[in-house]
Amino acid sequence: MEKQRSYPELMGRFRRRAEETGATFETAGAFECPLGRYEMHFMRMRLGAGTQRICISTGMHGDEPAGPETLLEAMRRLRENATRLDADILLFPCDNPTGWELNTRENWQGRDLNREFMKQGQAEEIRIVETALAGQRFDFTLDIHEDIDTYGMYLYERARPGRASLAEEMIAALRRRGCPIEESDVIEGLPASGGIIVPKGPLRRSDLPKAVYFWHHGVLQLITTESPGRLDFERRVEMQLICFDVFIEALAAGRFVRPQALNWDI
Ligand SMILES: [Zn+2]
Repeated sequence: MEKQRSYPELMGRFRRRAEETGATFETAGAFECPLGRYEMHFMRMRLGAGTQRICISTGMHGDEPAGPETLLEAMRRLRENATRLDADILLFPCDNPTGWELNTRENWQGRDLNREFMKQGQAEEIRIVETALAGQRFDFTLDIHEDIDTYGMYLYERARPGRASLAEEMIAALRRRGCPIEESDVIEGLPASGGIIVPKGPLRRSDLPKAVYFWHHGVLQLITTESPGRLDFERRVEMQLICFDVFIEALAAGRFVRPQALNWDI
């Protein structure tokens, strides 16, 4: 196991970006392993009255570096648009510190941390993340990922009945900018159309990704972005940010304000 990147250096960048953008920078917990001791962090950015409750996560898979880079720039764009946004935004910059350093999808133990939610004997990193999330409700969640095998971008989306798709708007924005879309009918074993996977049917209660954790905890709508790992790094970040700008416009329009008396707790 050889370190290829520095997690403290990445956290230093986020700490400075949090200061620049008026976000808090907080410690969620710490764990120890043969590679050292790691503190895990989250940030919180409150804009306006903080009505729309949002959670944005990245760095779950250590070999998907465009995610944290996108989030650094995304924080700047949120601050730039602050006067027209009404949101309380929780940000997880890197859910897999050892994977980040090793440049591996899994953590130092070879565990895929995005299969460790709501699970007995879960990995320490995810126990820390779930503790930080406990008792919080979200109206929209965004998980920023990459697919190291693809040449085109695709998205997962889940939304409660009657809600307009945001993923379709993101794909349209990507197409307008000439970005390649993953057009397969099946992506990662799931039915897809026009670069969007819309998972349907019952969800298993074990080995869950973070997005499904949010779904079980009542989120109205969620998206996972998957930039194509076969393209240049800068291009992937650009594509993620095209999607993020669509999200900012939706946030400015108040599309994640929860209708009264709507309760999706399970
Ligand atoms: Zn991933």
